[in-house]
Amino acid sequence: MFFKDLGLSAELLRAVEKQGYDKATPIQQQAIPLVLEGRDVLAGAQTGTGKTAGFTLPLLQQLQNRHKDGQKSFPKVLVLTPTRELAAQVHESVRDYGAYLPFRSAVIFGGVSINPQKQKLIKGVDIVVATPGRLLDHVQQRSIDLSRVEILVLDEADRMLDMGFIHDIRRVLKVIPKQRQTLLFSATFSNEIKQLASEFLVKPAEIQVTPENTATELVSQIVYPVDKKRKRELLSQQIGEENWQQVLIFTRTKHSANKLAEQLDNDGITSAAIHGNKSQGARTRALSDFKAGIVRALVATDIAARGIDIDKLPHVVNFELPNVPEDYIHRIGRTARAGQQGSAISLVCVDELKLLKDIERLLGKNIEKVYVPGYDVDPSIKAELIQNGSNRGGGRGNAGGGRGRSQGAGRTGGERSGTGRPGGAGRSSGAGARAAGGARTRSSSGNR
Ligand code: AMP
Repeated sequence: MFFKDLGLSAELLRAVEKQGYDKATPIQQQAIPLVLEGRDVLAGAQTGTGKTAGFTLPLLQQLQNRHKDGQKSFPKVLVLTPTRELAAQVHESVRDYGAYLPFRSAVIFGGVSINPQKQKLIKGVDIVVATPGRLLDHVQQRSIDLSRVEILVLDEADRMLDMGFIHDIRRVLKVIPKQRQTLLFSATFSNEIKQLASEFLVKPAEIQVTPENTATELVSQIVYPVDKKRKRELLSQQIGEENWQQVLIFTRTKHSANKLAEQLDNDGITSAAIHGNKSQGARTRALSDFKAGIVRALVATDIAARGIDIDKLPHVVNFELPNVPEDYIHRIGRTARAGQQGSAISLVCVDELKLLKDIERLLGKNIEKVYVPGYDVDPSIKAELIQNGSNRGGGRGNAGGGRGRSQGAGRTGGERSGTGRPGGAGRSSGAGARAAGGARTRSSSGNR
């Protein structure tokens, strides 16, 4: 279905065309008409599905229908996101799609000075994209008046709950009108999300574009079994041999993100780390350097990477598997966005076999294991307990959540599979066999 068939104005269609899109993605096909009807919407959609345009386009259309040019601006649309990066990206979409409309927008998040935000708000804005913490600071300081909000969007609601924002969300909901349209987007539907939806949405239309908790089919996923102390070496070799120019790498903790970025730099691979302890300036710079190709490897923790949208990002590496299986799906969702092919490689040591099992259970399939010559796993190494402190500490609005999720990352001894190369599933030899997902033989359990 084409955008022109969805009842959008000429100004919006022109903006969409400028982005180079003509066909609407499934979430856009479903969400746009419902939002235009004024319905509350409960949408199950991961990042990478085009969900941002799915809510941004129709809400701009609603504004265009209701508010003529020249009225004094006050916030009519509020979009809440869990992280600063996502807020910045959604705001970018609002600007892109609203380029030919007279509406003003602002992005509000913590970690940066509040005064420029106040000045922007004083001038009047129609659309506010915000993380909950800083938004509430503005509410408290009366630099924003949310009493005339007509449309509320909760983007990546599951992640907002994970990050402990539920109280902040409730506080925001108290200062916006009850009579409004509410759109809730979430990658997963826990009972908590359902509860939130039943409290704050009225007879929502439910849409789901990908089966719950299913990794995008376009990502080729591979596991490299490797000893912990040799992961970095294997990663550097992989990046070098394959000549990867842009790779997003995940670690479990801020500490290992820093350490790995430093080591990769020493290996001659320009790298930057991005996590909740970095200043907003450093995070923005790291991301823009990565997007511009100045930095080859961006090493990120889960929270900091949430919502990062990089056009045609070809490679994601799990240097360490996440403690929470759903995070694996979020991570690999950074690649293969909007129909592109992508690869996700996980370096898995003996400590992580239990985490791998949990992920495979969630995916409903096994991930192909590829044994890299020269990196045979040492069977004498015993699994160690994975510390679960990780990267979820930190305060409100700091892209580090309040409430950590715990997971029994128990000992995995006994689950260990053999260390030999299974017939046919290994990499035949050297780098040649590894070229861009090419000639490698895949085991039957591998997913495509
Ligand atoms: P999102 O799921 O909103 O994070 O979007 C993922 C990516 O898909 C972004 O880079 C968008 O610019 C892109 N995108 C959104 N809509 C379309 C479309 N209809 N066709 C192609 N790409 C799109």
